[in-house]
Amino acid sequence: MEDGHQKGSKGHHGGRRAKRLFDYGELRLLVLAMVLEKPRHGYEIIKTIADRFEGQYTPSPGVMYPTLSWLEDVGYITLSPEDGGRKLSRITPEGESFVTANRAAVNEILTRRMTENMAFNKGGDVVIAAMDRLKGALRSRLSGPTSDPDDKTEIAAAIDEAVQKITGGIASKSGAQPKDFSSDTSEQIITRHRFDTKRRALTVTKASYLTPHMIRTVLTGDDLDDFVSLSYDDHIKLFFDQGADKPAMRDYTPRAYDTKAKTLTLDFAIHEAGPATDWAIQAQEGSELTIGGPRGSAVVAPIFDWYLLIGDETALPAIGRRVEELPEGVDVITLTSVPEVADEQVFETAAHHTAHWVHRPIADAADPAPVLDALKGLTLPKGKGFVWIATEAKVARAVRDHVTDELGHPMTQMKASGYWTSGKAAGEDKSLA
Ligand SMILES: Cc1cc2nc3c(=O)[nH]c(=O)nc-3n(C[C@H](O)[C@H](O)[C@H](O)COP(=O)(O)OP(=O)(O)OC[C@H]3O[C@@H](n4cnc5c(N)ncnc54)[C@H](O)[C@@H]3O)c2cc1C
Repeated sequence: MEDGHQKGSKGHHGGRRAKRLFDYGELRLLVLAMVLEKPRHGYEIIKTIADRFEGQYTPSPGVMYPTLSWLEDVGYITLSPEDGGRKLSRITPEGESFVTANRAAVNEILTRRMTENMAFNKGGDVVIAAMDRLKGALRSRLSGPTSDPDDKTEIAAAIDEAVQKITGGIASKSGAQPKDFSSDTSEQIITRHRFDTKRRALTVTKASYLTPHMIRTVLTGDDLDDFVSLSYDDHIKLFFDQGADKPAMRDYTPRAYDTKAKTLTLDFAIHEAGPATDWAIQAQEGSELTIGGPRGSAVVAPIFDWYLLIGDETALPAIGRRVEELPEGVDVITLTSVPEVADEQVFETAAHHTAHWVHRPIADAADPAPVLDALKGLTLPKGKGFVWIATEAKVARAVRDHVTDELGHPMTQMKASGYWTSGKAAGEDKSLA
């Protein structure tokens, strides 16, 4: 095993990120996107956001007005005073360019709300969701230019009525004391996003060996202009026509993509045989490939001090993407199994990256021992961490058990997947965690 800081790694421990649906940078982007749609007053922006997020998120005036001032200071909007002291926000060319450059992030922010609703409908904490809607409705109703005292009396009466129902209802049903929700904190670690599935017909522009056991392909196609992949461990389906009723399907990670250039990069770990491997080995400029998805993304909240990523060669595309996207101020430790030293990869990142490599032949890729030995030698950083595991299924299970049982790491702060199963074609195993 070898280890060390990779080229381009820098940074230090930073404070934890805010545990909110949006951090301030994202809110600025959201506000800019609202102003880009049309010039708006501050309270209109609050209402528009409240409506779009169905009360799940409503910025307070105390957040909105400083945000608008900041956007004016950096030249992204102008604030023109009007009668009555209100100010109308208008986008500037710089602001427009900023939204355009961050369009993917804006789309991500807008879909985040939708999927949180879906999570709520599927059995999330209904009380916290209802509280969020109440908060949003209050802010929306009270944030206008005038606030009618009668309105406030009516709102206070409605809240009092709800309080009575809650305290009476809960106490009479369970005999328990009504709970004080004011101190509740909810922390969403993984937010799931869903997308419409779409098949895309692509053509290879480049295919070459990146390392002795990895082929990198770059594909292009007009269909890529609306491709979205929000998380490093997303997967797309690759379809291989084998003359049967249905094509063979295999899962691969979008290693990189660029909707403007309409390109998608896929890395193939090369092993003995299989339709995906066979296709990658013969791929050359002009080769065709049909893909589907991603059907969704599971985005890990940026609230962790450190990340431990454990994988084999099939997980290297996801690991590389993750290491590259992590910001300054977090620690990322990778523990990756590959056949030989020449299969190691270097990733540029602003995060503080420590790479550990296990070398073992592909024939031993389903043996957990080398990874477990290496894992036992690791010292994890202090603070709150997220562990991600993606290897052969038996190895993933053994590593997951070690992380939870021996290291005592909480299951809620980890994700483990079997990316393939030894001896089984298309052997993805999602049963782990
Ligand atoms: C979410 C997800 C993302 C993935 N992303 C990637 C990715 O970006 N790049 C990548 O290379 N793989 C990735 N994989 C793994 C890949 O889908 C499997 O390795 C797949 O089985 C390969 O298909 P195939 O047609 O080559 O082989 P198959 O026809 O599926 O399998 C043929 C035989 O090869 C064995 N086998 C399969 N994979 C390996 C392997 N890696 N080493 C040794 N033996 C193997 C099988 O056990 C079987 O016996 C991902 C898997 C998942 C679930």
